[in-house]
Amino acid sequence: MSDAPTVHLTTLGCAKNQVDSDKIVGLLTEAGYGRAVDPSAADVVVVNTCAFVEEARRESVETILELAEAKRSEARLVVVGCMAQRYGAELAEALPEADAVIGIEGYPGLVDRLDALTGWQPLELRPLRRPAMDLLFRTARPTPSTPWAYVKVAEGCDKACSFCAIPQFRGRQRSRPPTEIRREIEELVAGGVTEVVLVAQDLASYGRDLGAPGGIVDLLRFVADVEGLGRLRLFYLYPRDVRNELVETMTGLEVVADYFDLSLQHVVPELLRAMRRPGDGTAHLRLVEAIRRRAPEAAFRSSFIVGFPGETDDHVEALATFLREARLDWAGFFPFSPEEGTPAATLEPRIPDDEVAARLRHLEEVQEEITRLRAAEQVGRVLEVLVDQVEDGVPVGRSYREAPEIDGVVVLDVGEPGTWCRVEITGSYGHDLVGRRVEP
Ligand code: SF4
Repeated sequence: MSDAPTVHLTTLGCAKNQVDSDKIVGLLTEAGYGRAVDPSAADVVVVNTCAFVEEARRESVETILELAEAKRSEARLVVVGCMAQRYGAELAEALPEADAVIGIEGYPGLVDRLDALTGWQPLELRPLRRPAMDLLFRTARPTPSTPWAYVKVAEGCDKACSFCAIPQFRGRQRSRPPTEIRREIEELVAGGVTEVVLVAQDLASYGRDLGAPGGIVDLLRFVADVEGLGRLRLFYLYPRDVRNELVETMTGLEVVADYFDLSLQHVVPELLRAMRRPGDGTAHLRLVEAIRRRAPEAAFRSSFIVGFPGETDDHVEALATFLREARLDWAGFFPFSPEEGTPAATLEPRIPDDEVAARLRHLEEVQEEITRLRAAEQVGRVLEVLVDQVEDGVPVGRSYREAPEIDGVVVLDVGEPGTWCRVEITGSYGHDLVGRRVEP
């Protein structure tokens, strides 16, 4: 093959996987590979999979089989990501459609693997050193014009939540050096990004493995003055690690969004103990209230597991009551999935699927009402909005309250993608806000 092969990449799973995909694109582009938006036009089709829970694995396999159908017969199909890392040879055996299954640890050798698969020999010399994935810079982002990007500050997790298999395949926590993270943010900002979302499996524990006691607090202070950076947002905060100093730093630094993504999981003490997670509803409420004392308009998001073994109707009502008291802006609810090799996988009694589905619907309805009320309460406020895109001539953006891809949006009257506007909120529609631009 003389011409540079083209690669189509499909990404599944979480923000951290998105970052890995951006880095894979950077690695392959640097090695001379081209991009193909259409899988049927690509020489290599890569699927970056998710293995967090059963549902995600099912979606990964379905996507692999769909792309196996969609690709040209002579094109190569490569499976990467968490499913490849977690199941490796077993997955390769189960999916003969895949020409290669390459786990996260195999990424530094990804280019060599693709060269071997395609038989491509680039004419010009490539850079000798291929950095390890964790340290690899990325310049790609969701779409070239997206004014925001995720930055992964650490890989892996040292916690041991009983339902979670992530530490099994993503390993122990490995934090990236602050200088590395700052340079990546500077490069992204130079490329047009103005909002950065910091992600990791356990963000609030950032730096512990580096022996950096100040951890995430020092990191925020270290990157807050990057020129051109308009907003920093934090995802995946483990509640017990959200201490006063972190709250003071987040609410004290203007560039940091007063947006608290607290992974609470449940409120019932005995269930949380079985999940090997801290706290209870009272402690969670105290944390939310303490943050509100410092920042009355702070926005909150959380995620909850429903149908954990032993959960009763009363437990579900206790969670519903907590939601009404805490009045979080956003919340996601996920059915319990018995993950192979985790302590929770063998716990009893299991909750029947139809019962779990009914509980999910109930809790989502309770939260839906709260999210609408929280949106309606924004009417009359003037918010700083980043315009993400213009859809059918209508500018759409987000204030500090709305994270990309998972929360609502702000629809405004005028505004160019990538620009910041002061917007008076004039109305709300469900989760979304409507506003008109007001001059500073
Ligand atoms: S904090 Fe718990 S749920 Fe999150 S990645 Fe670590 S072990 Fe999994």
